[in-house]
Amino acid sequence: MGSLFLSTSLQVLSLLPPSRLRGIRCSKEDLKGQRVAVIGLGISGKAATRLALARGASVLAIDGNEQLIPLEYEPEFAEFTNLQTILGDCDIAQLEHADRIVVSPGVPLEEYAISALMKSGRNVMSELDFAAEILPSSVKVLAVSGTNGKSTVTSFAGQMLDHLGIKAFVGGNFGKPLSEAAILCLNSSSVEDIYQAAVVEVSSYQMDIPSKYFSPSVAVILNLTPDHLDRHKTMQNYADIKCNLFSHMRDDKLALLPIGNPYLNKAFSNHANGCHLTWIGDFPGIKIDMEATVAKLKFPTTDTIAHLQLSDLRATGAHNYINAAVAAFLVLGLGVGVDYHSINSIVKRLTLLPHRIQVVCTDACGIRWVDDSKATNIESTYTALLSLKDQKSIVLLGGLAKVLNGEDSNGFEQLVELLQHHRAVITFGSSGEMIYRALCDGGLSIPCIKATNLEDAVKHAKSISVKGDVILLSPGCASFDEFRNFEHRGHAFQELALSS
Ligand code: ADP
Repeated sequence: MGSLFLSTSLQVLSLLPPSRLRGIRCSKEDLKGQRVAVIGLGISGKAATRLALARGASVLAIDGNEQLIPLEYEPEFAEFTNLQTILGDCDIAQLEHADRIVVSPGVPLEEYAISALMKSGRNVMSELDFAAEILPSSVKVLAVSGTNGKSTVTSFAGQMLDHLGIKAFVGGNFGKPLSEAAILCLNSSSVEDIYQAAVVEVSSYQMDIPSKYFSPSVAVILNLTPDHLDRHKTMQNYADIKCNLFSHMRDDKLALLPIGNPYLNKAFSNHANGCHLTWIGDFPGIKIDMEATVAKLKFPTTDTIAHLQLSDLRATGAHNYINAAVAAFLVLGLGVGVDYHSINSIVKRLTLLPHRIQVVCTDACGIRWVDDSKATNIESTYTALLSLKDQKSIVLLGGLAKVLNGEDSNGFEQLVELLQHHRAVITFGSSGEMIYRALCDGGLSIPCIKATNLEDAVKHAKSISVKGDVILLSPGCASFDEFRNFEHRGHAFQELALSS
């Protein structure tokens, strides 16, 4: 079949430069006559396709999965004659004819010769940047990145703004892609309809193509521990990619980093370009007194130290004090007219997202079931074990372990010390055997049982639990060996808990 791009006659229009489009209102059809290739047709790719069409472009939508339904056959895209989907093998020459190539976060840069296209100067962008290009400059962006805690901080910041009556988009890597916010702005007929703020969770996969337009007013990298190294290879590269976040932040913009991370310190000095640097763990920035459950917040431009009371926070674990304090700091720094008093009154209203150390129930035998299915790496399981260290737990570990460069054990032996406080460990899933060996070799002295899958692990856990125990799913692994995603795994665990 001939490509839409090859057959489209080029209408050369005098297009407004993007900078002119970034005022209060966006203009529609700024890409009329242009050809946009969108690679990867998951949630982000589909949203980017919708946005490209709304901006008037002809779109070639590409995905390697032959089983997908071509977008033209989906009702929401049926009206567009300027859309063509290519599934399965794609002739790279098709991309040569694109004016822009928009890449979904799930697509590595080695595929479709994306790296080579970037090197040759082609206009290759992430979905995030494609959306940011058209987002009105009146929308203040609060960006959240890091290895763990991104969704929680994003959600906390979104809830704070919502409680304070500030119209904000909340999404990005979590929930709706940023392209959805851009489409809403394009379709808005009045300024009142447009968001005042966008709270955007940003993953490293969304930043490995350096952005040109994404320019947050405030941005945090919460932490950085080994993860996604199969794609990013080294910790320094992972840190450099994360710090692309700060490349376009200048003047009064605020960057927030954890104190004492050498990879991030180096990457920040490579990538940042004149914004204020603040710290999680030092001033200017945030200092938390865990005993007193108080966070002290200090901004670079003032001597005032504000106190944020965290004692009313309804969330387990010290890490959630950090998450709430970071969210408050970013919301205050965003410049949307929020003061300390109003933030303080809201902390008690914050709720956690599901599958993050979520208490499911206490069953008839007095066993408490806790779902931390979102713990997809060792660091987050470590955090959960720390949070529950005073409660005897039977800990379910397993699934598909992440690759850690140069380590056969994938790092599970790091959990041994904390696990010793608990009742037992059950390993399961495709990495269950490897985890079992790593824990035993690491000197685990509490019972450790091998199970086949999650259901079998729950069966073993129930058979050894006694009144007052916790059965904790905090798997430290991805879920894809048995489930569609961590939510699917969490729901399966919750069903098993509720039927016990
Ligand atoms: P992400 O979106 O980055 O995957 P989430 O907010 O969904 O992170 O939290 C996932 C898990 O990470 C939680 O269940 C918890 O175990 C751990 N976690 C959350 N916040 C933090 C934090 N600030 N520092 C370290 N670990 C955290």
